[in-house]
Amino acid sequence: MKAAVVHEFTSPLRIEEVAKPEPGLGEIVVKIEASGLCHTDIHAAHGDWPVKPKLPLIPGHEGVGIVEMVGPEVTEVKEGDRVAIPWLGYACGACKYCVSGEETLCEQQLNTGYFLDGGYAQYAKAFAKYVGKVPAQVDPFEAAPLTCAGVTTYKAVKMSGARPSDLVAIFGIGGLGHMALQYAKIAGATVVAVDLVDEKLDLAKQLGADYTINGKAEDPVEAIKKLGGADAAISLAVSPRAFEQAFRALRRGGTLVFVALPADNYMQLPIFETVLNGIKIVGSIVGTRLDLAEVFDLHAAGKTHVLYEKRHLEDVNQAFEEVEQARVPARLVFDMT
Ligand code: NAD
Ligand code: ZN
Ligand code: ZN
Repeated sequence: MKAAVVHEFTSPLRIEEVAKPEPGLGEIVVKIEASGLCHTDIHAAHGDWPVKPKLPLIPGHEGVGIVEMVGPEVTEVKEGDRVAIPWLGYACGACKYCVSGEETLCEQQLNTGYFLDGGYAQYAKAFAKYVGKVPAQVDPFEAAPLTCAGVTTYKAVKMSGARPSDLVAIFGIGGLGHMALQYAKIAGATVVAVDLVDEKLDLAKQLGADYTINGKAEDPVEAIKKLGGADAAISLAVSPRAFEQAFRALRRGGTLVFVALPADNYMQLPIFETVLNGIKIVGSIVGTRLDLAEVFDLHAAGKTHVLYEKRHLEDVNQAFEEVEQARVPARLVFDMT
């Protein structure tokens, strides 16, 4: 089968013929139709984070397709089902996190497109217990971005505690941000979208943002303070500076949700202002299987819009550049059909 493979963190991906996977105990093999490009895949391919992925690696954790083969003891799905293969590729199912609705914190977890080969391929292997079932009403090319960008920001909005009377600031209107602002609107909040690219802000307006701020043209902190300060800010921009701005844009008692994972791992966080202003800082990592099911249900009910452009897997390296330079509307999805 054809796949895009990372061999070293300093070289482009290579399109190669690799062996088609075989399903083991509890595993399935999925014929991929659509495979979203998350900025995390770029971090993985560059080895940006303190914990490195396996090499060689087939990235991708927004793979959607049809179950083609089912291994022994699989009861959750059957051949012909459409499934999504998310970042949480495996968890132990027995630890205190797994049994208390915090499976994304499981210390035994394996991540798709990082420690397990992922969706940048014609076929991908997955643990049947951890795939999401894609409802018939959800298009596979829309299901792909929902599988990470959707579930991650749905969960981040939950973690923010956003309520109808709140002002919620979304920093970074990329793949994640374009979904985040919709979930904040569904929660009833007033939404202010911040990016550095006007096209992204136009898109945010179309998707329901009440205010938009271009961080190149004006200071987002001042602009959000003028609106009264944010009750919650969600950091989705791949820049520690944007995290610092999001912190300073909060009103007293506000919550800052960390989601983006820039290669530069540190930001300046003032202790005095955090204490005196009673600020809450929360890390949020993807979402559970239940969160993903809720995300698909919301989409099937027509409550969210996914904006994407298709690309061919052969153009994966150009696609990475387009995302790094913020030249894409929201998400890129590889068309594997
Ligand atoms: P993306 O490239 O599609 O979007 C990033 C957006 O941020 C772009 O629109 C860009 O213009 C904007 N931006 C950059 N600098 C900015 C600044 N200073 N101020 C305002 N906006 C700025 O990326 P994505 O796929 O949405 O992913 C975003 C980040 O989230 C990545 O670091 C990714 O690894 C991380 N991520 C985290 C989780 C999680 O579970 N915590 C899940 C998925 C992705
Ligand atoms: Zn992702
Ligand atoms: Zn566990």
